[in-house]
Amino acid sequence: MDRERLKRSLAAVTSRIEAAARRAGRDPAGVTLIAVTKTVDAATTQALIELGVHDIAENRQQSAAEKLPLIPALNGPQRPTLHFIGPLQRNKVKRVLEQFDVLHSVESVKLAAEVSKRALELGRTAAIFVQVNVAGEAQKGGFAPDELSDSLKEIIRLPAVRVLGLMCMAPYSDEPEAARPHFKRLASLSRELLPPEAHALSMGMSGDFEVAIEEGATHVRVGSALFE
Ligand SMILES: *Cc1c(COP(=O)(O)O)cnc(C)c1O
Repeated sequence: MDRERLKRSLAAVTSRIEAAARRAGRDPAGVTLIAVTKTVDAATTQALIELGVHDIAENRQQSAAEKLPLIPALNGPQRPTLHFIGPLQRNKVKRVLEQFDVLHSVESVKLAAEVSKRALELGRTAAIFVQVNVAGEAQKGGFAPDELSDSLKEIIRLPAVRVLGLMCMAPYSDEPEAARPHFKRLASLSRELLPPEAHALSMGMSGDFEVAIEEGATHVRVGSALFE
């Protein structure tokens, strides 16, 4: 993608993030823009990092394995934090941990246990978000809100996992306001069930990130708005 166009879209998204934070009386520095690069090539991802993006997300281990080695900035001083946001399969956990810094899609206790086991083997602690299926959609992963409490207790006890907070995807809608009750729900589950050091909220995508910020998002995952 043309660099000037990319620079303009990035500036537009960044100023929308700042405006939403100010509207909510929040410090814009408390919102991390995670650029979801799953639909663009290595050169565009490299350009985004050069333009100052510090956080990059991919959703498939296999395609990331092919793409990440082609991004020189990942080996330099500007190395961004790499987020894995896709459905996580247990047999891919080891490779995902080798490639990524933060996992957003931990959606079962079994999966969390596997993450902890593999992280221990690699001599590190895995930073994770626990995914919640806020709207109870059959096609989406994540804990049901009413099973979250017990599951979080088990996950927090795992030796090599550090829970940063909760993650959700609002149901698809053309209307950003439709997402608000789901974001509110995630924020209230977080306050109710997690200690303050685990209050990060990964919520908000291109269609609804401003509403998410108004409801407390600390990490927004934005793809298409950066590349159109
Ligand atoms: C693709 C994706 C995004 C970004 O979606 P856009 O609508 O392109 O901003 C965010 N989160 C997850 C989990 C995704 O798979």
